[in-house]
Amino acid sequence: MVRPMSEPGPPDAQPTTHFGYSEVPVGEKTARVREVFDSVSSRYDLMNDLMSGGVHRLWKSNFIDQLNPQPGMEIVDVAGGTGDVAQRILTRTNGRARVTICDINASMLIAGRDRAIDKGGLADDSAPDLVCGNAEELPFADASLDAYTIAFGLRNVTHIDKALAEARRVLKPGGHFLCLEFSRVVVPLLAPLYDRYSFTMLPQLGALVARDQDSYVYLAESIRKFPPQEELATMLRDAGFDQVSYRNLSAGIAAVHSAWRI
Ligand code: SAM
Repeated sequence: MVRPMSEPGPPDAQPTTHFGYSEVPVGEKTARVREVFDSVSSRYDLMNDLMSGGVHRLWKSNFIDQLNPQPGMEIVDVAGGTGDVAQRILTRTNGRARVTICDINASMLIAGRDRAIDKGGLADDSAPDLVCGNAEELPFADASLDAYTIAFGLRNVTHIDKALAEARRVLKPGGHFLCLEFSRVVVPLLAPLYDRYSFTMLPQLGALVARDQDSYVYLAESIRKFPPQEELATMLRDAGFDQVSYRNLSAGIAAVHSAWRI
């Protein structure tokens, strides 16, 4: 039966949230996101290069410039996946920062570990620690870290406000929060082209390379559902962060948000 819009739902209706453009029960979203990354983990790095023509490397490099990691810093890269950001931090500091990768998906952590072993890494004490954990309930002590990074991860979290509160909790006073995420294109002429690319070519590439079209439809949809630049800045202020700012990369296809725990 189709219910008229004005009629209220049953009193015990489960709260829902978005998973791409679909509505799913809140309690199911994390598992659905996990399925996406389990499915694509072995082809994740290759897909990133193909989808972005390598531009994600420039964005990440620019992101690390802003972080400006120093030897001795304790840094967590949340939703760190296969460890791209963590490896860049270690390279910049000659392995002298203490980096932990925290990700909810063991399959992504394992794909990253295997890649590092193949490249001859992980042989010394500077290798990142790998922790399987949820951004909404971080397994780290209060005020224990100098910096928190999250790249292309926040979009996948069910309760962004909880993840931001957790980020602030684990940072030391004076600690730096940095988020790299897809955002809103700010050049009107580019937007339709970008939409066409996202909703046609991207899923086709996903089908061809990762044998998974649906995960790349989710990617395109989840980008559109993620809070735009100003909205995310407001969420950071609401979470208690100070000196909140952001800057666009590639006309707003991505953005870096920066905030500090005072
Ligand atoms: N940061 C990496 C990068 O830039 O290449 C990986 C980004 S990948 C698009 C998103 C990652 O977020 C996946 O590895 C996924 O497992 C992780 N993830 C999704 N939801 C999460 C959550 N609630 N807590 C921690 N990690 C999560």
